[in-house]
Amino acid sequence: MSELARGCPHLLDFKEKSGLHSYQVIYKYLVKPQLVNSEARKVKARTCLCNVCNSYNMYLHTCLHCVYFGCHLPENHLSHHMKTTGHYLSVELIYGSIYCSKCKDFVYDSDIDAICRQNDQQVMHKSHISRAPVNYSVLALLPQKSFRI
Ligand SMILES: [Zn+2]
Ligand SMILES: [Zn+2]
Ligand SMILES: [Zn+2]
Repeated sequence: MSELARGCPHLLDFKEKSGLHSYQVIYKYLVKPQLVNSEARKVKARTCLCNVCNSYNMYLHTCLHCVYFGCHLPENHLSHHMKTTGHYLSVELIYGSIYCSKCKDFVYDSDIDAICRQNDQQVMHKSHISRAPVNYSVLALLPQKSFRI
């Protein structure tokens, strides 16, 4: 994997306009659902498939702008989505790294980093994994109609 490029201006621009709420939700429910509970993990398995070829693999990304799922490699259906919609930021679903299709690289951001750490720490301090039903209404806040649950 290439080194994280620092200071992507496109991500800064996105943060300013849209904030990072959608990233927080994506990270919690789609990158690390196993830290929420087992039901959330199942939802991830059902939900995170490439919208084009229906495949699930370690290269799956989701669009940060609209939560469109697309494989990044080898077919790169995500880049097709990026080109046709003008969206440019995607989240890789294993670690939650952000890929900028304008920079053509993974990009680093301290706010994103803080969200990841905060989430991971909260869970470490929890004595047990929550059995409460997953609050899916938070996913509905994401701006995509075809979000499949
Ligand atoms: Zn695909
Ligand atoms: Zn999109
Ligand atoms: Zn960029």
